[in-house]
Amino acid sequence: MGIRTGESYIDGVKSREPDVWLNGERIRDVYHHPVFKQPIHEIASLYDLQHDPIHQSDITHICEETGERTNNAFLVPKSYEDLMARSKTFEVYARATFGLMGRSPDFLNVVLTSMASNSSFFEQYNSDWAKNIENYYKYVRDHDLFLTHAIINPQNNRAKNSQEQDDEFTHLGEVRETDEGIIVRGAKMLATLAPITDEVIIYSFPGFAPGDEKYALAFALPIDTPGLRLMCREPMQDGKRSLIDHPLASRFEESDALLIFNDVLVPWDRVFLRNNVEAGNRLYPSTGIIEQPSHQSGVRGLVKLQFAVETAARVADSIGVDHYLNVQKDLGELVQSVEVIRALLRVAEYEHVTMDSGEVRPAADPLETIRGYMPLMYPRAIELIQIIGAGGLLMSPTGADFDHSEVRQNLDQYYMGREGVSSYERVKLFKLAWDLCGEAFGQRLLQYERYYTGDPIRKRAIFYNNYKRKHSFDMVDQALDAAEKIHQQQNGITH
Ligand SMILES: Cc1cc2nc3c(=O)[nH]c(=O)nc-3n(C[C@H](O)[C@H](O)[C@H](O)COP(=O)(O)OP(=O)(O)OC[C@H]3O[C@@H](n4cnc5c(N)ncnc54)[C@H](O)[C@@H]3O)c2cc1C
Repeated sequence: MGIRTGESYIDGVKSREPDVWLNGERIRDVYHHPVFKQPIHEIASLYDLQHDPIHQSDITHICEETGERTNNAFLVPKSYEDLMARSKTFEVYARATFGLMGRSPDFLNVVLTSMASNSSFFEQYNSDWAKNIENYYKYVRDHDLFLTHAIINPQNNRAKNSQEQDDEFTHLGEVRETDEGIIVRGAKMLATLAPITDEVIIYSFPGFAPGDEKYALAFALPIDTPGLRLMCREPMQDGKRSLIDHPLASRFEESDALLIFNDVLVPWDRVFLRNNVEAGNRLYPSTGIIEQPSHQSGVRGLVKLQFAVETAARVADSIGVDHYLNVQKDLGELVQSVEVIRALLRVAEYEHVTMDSGEVRPAADPLETIRGYMPLMYPRAIELIQIIGAGGLLMSPTGADFDHSEVRQNLDQYYMGREGVSSYERVKLFKLAWDLCGEAFGQRLLQYERYYTGDPIRKRAIFYNNYKRKHSFDMVDQALDAAEKIHQQQNGITH
């Protein structure tokens, strides 16, 4: 089939009835639910970009194997040019959503492509796993599917590992095997956009201990598989608020869900890894699923940071406060943070690594550095929008007030910005800024940058430990040796 249209994606959503729970209600018609409808259309518009003559050649290619036009997220990069084609694809998607939808379809399609192109990893343990991941990749690629994922355990007792939790199946684990496949039970989180996806893929961060065998799992299922329950968090918007008042939250809310598996059958051909702690722990470092999706996240994060920085700059300009040195300094800091991320991305792409298989991966260290700095830079951008917008962020009337002739004149007089900025323009801008820096929607976006791929604290520590293994820090020895040598020469010491 190759690239899908938005309509075909929407038809898929309408055709299913996953077990979605939201606000104490079972949502049978996901498409028509106000919380999901606009986000579904935003995802559909991403699929439509593939058919847009302006973008098609940037985000798709002709698949060598099928001869069909296929999204670049499914391209296994074999050269710097391939890597940059992917980079462009990530950018097109990120710009369409201002980087605010982190789990757009390209994200997991890159993860899956990376796993399948490293199927030799699975082959070492079980040839069926290798065949299954390759076939699943082809299935998702050829049907252009949209996946969610859940890779961490629910937050019950983090001080205990899976086998030590009070209930054997609090964390998702294998109950038994049958002729048709394995039966799994327990929970996994945090499946972003799950209700509006086609399929879910399950795998885990490393961290399994001996005895955790039943929890070391990787598999994929249709999102409406019997026994799979999606417990959605409270929505950040009800889908009924005005687009003038909430221009971002009304469009880009990514729902998140806890996935509960009530004795779910995973057919054998969908099992990629099971009952093997070593394989579970090596999956991440051995299949490129750190670097390849980090490339998508880096590009998307850059666009999101840039959007937040532009918002700060426009707020400052609209009320004339960028006239002041302190505000200029703050805005300069933000623009420089964008430049830092942009430079790191280009280094990651330029210093790419070619694997023995021919797969090209962006360099890991600059991408991990982006991962380390975004949780500092993005919250800083949000903080500065709050500081620069100050009380004005809380003073905006609603878009509906502008429709009343009785108050319109007051609004036009008292809400205008600096010369040339009308009250309506300023209020709309401040509402966008508030969506980003004040609303629950904006707080989730901030939390996303901190945690979307693991705990930044432990990730930095891991980064340092890996760095230490690869570097001897011997400049210090050089300095000490040179000083000693000069000291000996100066003092005539010959031993
Ligand atoms: C908006 C958003 C969207 C997300 N989307 C997805 C998604 O689509 N799919 C998905 O699978 N996941 C998703 N994630 C989840 C993400 O993977 C986790 O949030 C992340 O891995 C951190 O895990 P946690 O939230 O359980 O925090 P925890 O691991 O419970 O950490 C909580 C705190 O305790 C500390 N801590 C915990 N354990 C240790 C330890 N062993 N040593 C030292 N300190 C420790 C941490 O530093 C942290 O401060 C999303 C998260 C967010 C916020």
